[in-house]
Amino acid sequence: MLKRIALVAHDHKKNELLTWINKHLSIMKQCDIVATGTTGQRINEETGLTVQRLKSGPLGGDQQIGAKIAEGELDALFFFWDPLNPAPHDPDVKALLRLCSVWNIPVACTSATADLIVTSPLFLSQDFTPEKPAY
Ligand code: PGA
Repeated sequence: MLKRIALVAHDHKKNELLTWINKHLSIMKQCDIVATGTTGQRINEETGLTVQRLKSGPLGGDQQIGAKIAEGELDALFFFWDPLNPAPHDPDVKALLRLCSVWNIPVACTSATADLIVTSPLFLSQDFTPEKPAY
């Protein structure tokens, strides 16, 4: 079961994330969602989903998500980051993606991968718990 999810989109990717969420709204309604500040605000306003909003990405939101992953509080990350524009918090983005690999967290950085993850029969299955490394 992968229902505790984080949603993040850089500014040029926010519309794409909103479109993707609306496409999978019935699945999203079954998830506990956390998001960085601006992403979360737009999700709430434009889809009606309840979202736990963290700080904006450049102000530490990505690191807050990383902390939740390290604490075992999140099951999957959907991070529509922008490959064409540099961000002031690029080191935070890299750190967040690194922690997902450390803790074996499923990550989607594109809508295609995100489609595949949420439509997998394993996504909401009680039977699926990814193996956690024994650090
Ligand atoms: P935002 O942050 O949702 O506050 O825009 C996202 C990010 O830049 O990581």
